[in-house]
Amino acid sequence: GQRVVIVGAGMAGVQTAVALRERGFTGTVTVLGAEPHQPYDRPPLSKAVLLGNAEGSAFDIDFEALGIELRLGVEVTGVRPADHELDTAAGPVGYDSLVLATGAEPMRLPGSDGVPGVHLLRTLDDAERLRPVLAERHDVVVVGAGWIGAEFATAARDAGCAVTVVEASGRPLAGALPAEVAAPMAAWYAEAGAELRTHARVARVEPGAVFLDDGSRLPADAVVVGIGARPATAWLAGSGIELGVHREVVTDDRLRTSAPDVYAVGDCASFPSGRYGERLLVHHWDNAVQGPRTVAAALVGEAPEAYDPVPYFWSEQFGRFVQYAGHHAAADELVWRGDPATPSWTVCWLRDGALVAVLAVGRPRDLAQSRKLIDAATPMDPALVTDPAVPLKKA
Ligand code: FAD
Repeated sequence: GQRVVIVGAGMAGVQTAVALRERGFTGTVTVLGAEPHQPYDRPPLSKAVLLGNAEGSAFDIDFEALGIELRLGVEVTGVRPADHELDTAAGPVGYDSLVLATGAEPMRLPGSDGVPGVHLLRTLDDAERLRPVLAERHDVVVVGAGWIGAEFATAARDAGCAVTVVEASGRPLAGALPAEVAAPMAAWYAEAGAELRTHARVARVEPGAVFLDDGSRLPADAVVVGIGARPATAWLAGSGIELGVHREVVTDDRLRTSAPDVYAVGDCASFPSGRYGERLLVHHWDNAVQGPRTVAAALVGEAPEAYDPVPYFWSEQFGRFVQYAGHHAAADELVWRGDPATPSWTVCWLRDGALVAVLAVGRPRDLAQSRKLIDAATPMDPALVTDPAVPLKKA
């Protein structure tokens, strides 16, 4: 029979295995994962798991019943596509089809490696190391006011820690949102009692303190680094599999890589979006759920449609539910829908009059309606979009 081997036991890898069985695949399915833990979901790590409100976030999947072989604690170190073989510490593993789902790894703060008290937040082990930091209400310094930094700061304030967030740019979420939209979010930090220091760069980290390049010293029992993540693809170097500018695996619109019988999905891979006319590298949960359906369909010979989702994600920060759908570029027209000084508001982006992206704060209905309108590239009347009392609909 056919052997499908999946590298990475996160959401994308596990969903690919499950989707194969759902489509009646009868060959062997093996998932190799570097972490020793039962496969688990990551979003709760910066929310309920961190606060100790949930024990863990293991997927509720009966792998044995599905005939999925899980090999945990096995790191894959290389692949030789011409031989259809992987290399692991436990010896070579052959495949007929291979799925790369190794996700992303957090970027480290230069000079902070090995300094006691410095943490990342990507894995269950990371979250478990951070739990006592919260429980003991330590002084924490968070480096980076991105999605992870904001969620960690929220949890740490909830736990009663003194929190300072150090951000190199002038505002939170500088990489994701334009200044006009992100600027009001700075107030959320202050409101929660967290100090946000913008235009602030870390000069060095010592045990117990972070020093900024303006000479200031911030006391820090713990430092949490949230400065971004990059695809976990170092192990593919020299394999001949094409990597892109962010070191991600480059796939086509069926999530096939440049090597025969090798697919890639989730945080480790980019795909060409026909909808947005550019290659997208998405580091969000929904993409790790949807992409596997395309891969599984291709693996069972179903000739899937091009993978071209409306990207979606959410974040829970400072008591707010923040959701984003679609993808916007700097040139798109930004339309406000509500006042950012109030608890709930929405921003829409239009391109040639059609809705291409939406950010909704505390307005889940706007988000739900937008996903369909974006999917259909619906023309909108900007004058109606601005009125939060009028449901979002076709012009
Ligand atoms: P991963 O989840 O990274 O899984 C990849 C797995 O592959 C890992 O277990 C890794 O150990 C393993 N691996 C890597 N290299 C190898 C190797 N060489 N050999 C074997 N195994 C290997 N998204 C949202 O939309 N909303 C949220 O609120 C949200 N919150 C998040 C909170 C946190 C703390 C984090 C870290 C992420 C969050 N995300 C959120 C993002 C979301 O979790 C990711 O997009 C998703 O986990 C991607 O799944 P993946 O399977 O592609 O990668």
